[in-house]
Amino acid sequence: MGADWFIIVMTAALGLCVGSFLNVCIHRLWHENPEQRSLLHPPSTCPHCKQRIVWRDNIPVFSWLWLRGKCRWCHKPISIQYPIIEASVGLLWVVALLYYGFTMHALAAAIFGTILVGIGVIDARHKIIPDELSVSGLVLGLALSLSGGLPGFLQALLGAAVGWSVLWVVRELGGLILRQEAMGWGDIKMLAMVGAFVGWKNALLTIFVGAIIGTGFYLPLMIWSIRKWRRYELPFGVFLAIASGVTFVFGDTMISWYLDFLKSR
Ligand SMILES: [Zn+2]
Repeated sequence: MGADWFIIVMTAALGLCVGSFLNVCIHRLWHENPEQRSLLHPPSTCPHCKQRIVWRDNIPVFSWLWLRGKCRWCHKPISIQYPIIEASVGLLWVVALLYYGFTMHALAAAIFGTILVGIGVIDARHKIIPDELSVSGLVLGLALSLSGGLPGFLQALLGAAVGWSVLWVVRELGGLILRQEAMGWGDIKMLAMVGAFVGWKNALLTIFVGAIIGTGFYLPLMIWSIRKWRRYELPFGVFLAIASGVTFVFGDTMISWYLDFLKSR
C-alpha cells in the first residue's frame, strides 16, 4: 500500500505541473502573432507589473494560495483560472491512474484529457483550436498506440482518417448548401486527433454526442434571441471536447448497448 500512495502522490504532482504548463498554452496559443505563441519565451510575468515570476511563486496551486491570489510585487489579483486549471488537471491524472491502474492506457487517458481541457477552454474563449494542441495531440495519440496505451496503430490511424474525413465532408457539403463555413479546419484537425485516441467507431459517436450537447446548449439561446441567432458562432470544439471525454471512457459500452438494443428488437 505504501508504494501505491507514493505513485498516487507522484502522479498528482506530475498532473499539477502538466496543468501549470497547460495554463501557459491557454494563455499564449490563441495569438495570431507567432512570437506571442511561443511556449518558452518570454518567461512568465505578472500581467500587471510585468515582474518576472520566480520559481517559488510558480508552484502549482500552492503559490496561488500562499500569495492569496495576488502578485508578490504589485499585489494586483491573479486570476483564479490558474489554480483551477492546475487542480483540475492534477485531479484528472490521479483519476486516470485510479481508474485504469498504473498502465500506458492511464497515461493515454491523462494526456488526452489534458489536451481536451486546453482545447475546450481556448475554443470557448477565443473560438480557435490551435494546431499545437490538435496536431501535436494527433502525433502523441499515434505514438501512444504504438506503445500499447491505445488499441493499436492501425486502429488509431483509421480513427484519425475517419474523424478527419467525416468533418471534412460536413465542411464541403455545408459550404455548398449553406454557402457559409459549416465546419472550421480547427474542428477537423481536432477530430483527427480524437479519432487516434478513441478509434473510428467512437470518433463517429463523438460527433453525434457533440452535436446533441451543442444543440441542447444552444437551442434555448437561439429561441431566446431568434433574430440574432445567426451571429452565434458555435464553439463546436467545446462540445466535441466534452463528447470526446465521454466516448473515451464509455464509448465502447455505449456502442455495445446500442447493438444489443438493435438485436433485441
Ligand atoms: Zn504584479
